[in-house]
Amino acid sequence: MYDFHLHSEYSIDSKASMESMVASAINNNLKSICFTDHVDYDATTTGMDFVFRTADYFKNINQVKYKYKNEIEILAGVEIGMQPHLFDRYNTLIENNNFDFVIMSLHAVEKIDIHTGEFTKKYEPLDALERYYGDIKKCISGFSNFDVFGHLDFIDRYFNRTASIPRFEDYYGLVYDVLKLLIQNNKGIEINTSGVRYGLGYYHPKVSILKLYKELGGEIVTIGSDSHAPNTIGHDYKLAEKLLRDLGYKYIFIFKDRKKFPINIG
Ligand SMILES: [Zn+2]
Ligand SMILES: [Zn+2]
Repeated sequence: MYDFHLHSEYSIDSKASMESMVASAINNNLKSICFTDHVDYDATTTGMDFVFRTADYFKNINQVKYKYKNEIEILAGVEIGMQPHLFDRYNTLIENNNFDFVIMSLHAVEKIDIHTGEFTKKYEPLDALERYYGDIKKCISGFSNFDVFGHLDFIDRYFNRTASIPRFEDYYGLVYDVLKLLIQNNKGIEINTSGVRYGLGYYHPKVSILKLYKELGGEIVTIGSDSHAPNTIGHDYKLAEKLLRDLGYKYIFIFKDRKKFPINIG
């Protein structure tokens, strides 16, 4: 098992030490894990940055890497919270640090953090989706220094009730454009198993999107639990892998030193 989306105390929303995450990963028989702590620039209406000191981050990763080198492979990634005005800042971050893996996610639209629920409250659901996927398109067109796009449809979580999430058919075109662009640019997506833990009943992205990505020629998929605490590491990994296999995917991918490696799931 290869969990490629994990947070630790270097993220604002986690208190878990790297060592506690690693211990749990070893207990759960993971073969490789990749820390992908948050860097979110200009993430709130008041312009706050959520960052960590990368020197400390790499130092800590190197410590656990060395200590557990015979038990598990540990990689150093990052999850960047992209917005269309931040390309230069993130390029600088990534060029100055040797990350193994970069997840680009969209956590804020129009500088409103999606997690707070304010964005999905402000607009009618279809309008909110248009703005969300519209910004994703801009980010993929304008920025290439990333490997996979994170939790593609996670905005679904923040609509008032599941009943008000628009039907996929009603915004299919928006997702189609995003997937086309990702494939053209040789970028992947992740299957992020946290959607189920949030009570949504599906992973991010949902099956229809995983299917469409495959149909359009997409192949690069990583699996991540998006754990912020040790108890959910590797959560639903086998089920996610089975889902991909059922959809006709032959491989999942892992990343090291920003290069992708296929893992056969046949
Ligand atoms: Zn995220
Ligand atoms: Zn995350």
